[in-house]
Amino acid sequence: MGKAEDQAERLARLAREAHERARARDLAADGGEASDAHHHPAEAATDAEARERDLQAHLRLREEEERLLRLAEAAQRGEYGICIDCGEPIPEARLEIVPDAERCVACQQAASGGRRH
Ligand SMILES: [Zn+2]
Repeated sequence: MGKAEDQAERLARLAREAHERARARDLAADGGEASDAHHHPAEAATDAEARERDLQAHLRLREEEERLLRLAEAAQRGEYGICIDCGEPIPEARLEIVPDAERCVACQQAASGGRRH
């Protein structure tokens, strides 16, 4: 099996895992809804915050899944591991640690630095 297939398979597996984690979160949230009626109004704000946090975590997992699926497709075309900003190859050591990295270290720092300011 070629390297591209290996990468595509790994990314597809990671995407499935993200999908499963998001689904497990859905099921947990549904279980929580059932007991909401018994809550005191004062707890409602806390519940809303908890739900908001859950929702954010859920959305992050969905985004992660979508990104991984996109990268799995890119891997099948032999385009995985190319920085989306500068087009340079992302070091394999970085991809080992951050399989869904879409940018090289320099561009990622520039991108996250931009968000902070
Ligand atoms: Zn780059």
